[in-house]
Amino acid sequence: MKTIGIIGGGQLAQLLALSAYHLGLNTLCFVDDANCPAKRTSPIFVAHLDDEKALDLFAHQVDVITIENENINTSTLDYLAKQKPVYPNVNAVKIAQDRLLEKQFFQTHNIFTTDFFAINSAADFMPNHHNGILKTRRFGYDSKGQMRVKSNTDLTNAWKALNKPAIFEAFVDFDYEVSLLIARNSQGDIQPFPLIHNEHQAGILRRSRFDERDALLQKQAESIGADILNALNYVGVLAIEFFVKDNLLIANEMAPRVHNSGHLTIEGCNVSQFEQHLRAITGKLLIVPKIIQSVEMHNIIGEWPKDLSLFQHVYDYGKKPREKRKLGHGIIV
Ligand code: AMP
Repeated sequence: MKTIGIIGGGQLAQLLALSAYHLGLNTLCFVDDANCPAKRTSPIFVAHLDDEKALDLFAHQVDVITIENENINTSTLDYLAKQKPVYPNVNAVKIAQDRLLEKQFFQTHNIFTTDFFAINSAADFMPNHHNGILKTRRFGYDSKGQMRVKSNTDLTNAWKALNKPAIFEAFVDFDYEVSLLIARNSQGDIQPFPLIHNEHQAGILRRSRFDERDALLQKQAESIGADILNALNYVGVLAIEFFVKDNLLIANEMAPRVHNSGHLTIEGCNVSQFEQHLRAITGKLLIVPKIIQSVEMHNIIGEWPKDLSLFQHVYDYGKKPREKRKLGHGIIV
């Protein structure tokens, strides 16, 4: 039986491990906190990522290595990749973990994205470009490391507060937001999921459902997705988040992993994003994703609602409640 090594132990690792079980795969999660969500569904390996001896021991126990979070030093992944296959590859992770490299990658591959410029010092501020968002290049998630800017003064304050290499993105007055989950295996087969419509509040995903309104948009997204996967020689599931404006897709960002917006594929599709990712990285045939029932996913953020009877399925990540923290999700069928 093959063992999948997962770097990280959050809810994505927890759900990957759950899915691995019914594919006859073992998992081992490399975590720095023994009290992590993944411990509910997987054996864990507790150590620090800068401990090379621990990395050797871990690599020795697994057949293939994957990630659940892109914010890992690429030197660590390079080190592991000398011992076992690492999917997605280190270069793809390097691009996707840095907003500037990611946006430049979109531009190089003729993928329409927001106007942006790099900010490394106050001297990089552009006159007349003050309606947007200042985002740190790395380590931002769920609106962390981001500040809305509407004036020169805002930009100066945001820059002082973030104080890290950043990008300034023009504000997009989009109609709505969608994400595409798309998988590629090592044979080069590519399988996209149906587009998912996402609603955010204060930069955090709240609600997702399938979006089958527009077949042309689906085609557009699949073509962009395939271009990215092939350009990166990518193996695994990739998530791409888009703004939709006048029926056109504007790429916002990508995540080199399974994604919160794809949780609804567990109940909604014949194959989940988790199973498809595991299939891709273990060289199995991919399944053609199809919607089997209409579902809606609600994130549970900050605290648990008193009444969960709205949901047919509830996932508890086992985390301590904290403001803005994703504690679990509920599924309405
Ligand atoms: P991100 O971390 O880049 O995915 O941003 C989180 C959320 O903030 C997005 O899903 C949007 O709802 C909003 N957002 C981010 N960038 C922009 C932008 N350039 N214009 C308008 N809204 C944005």
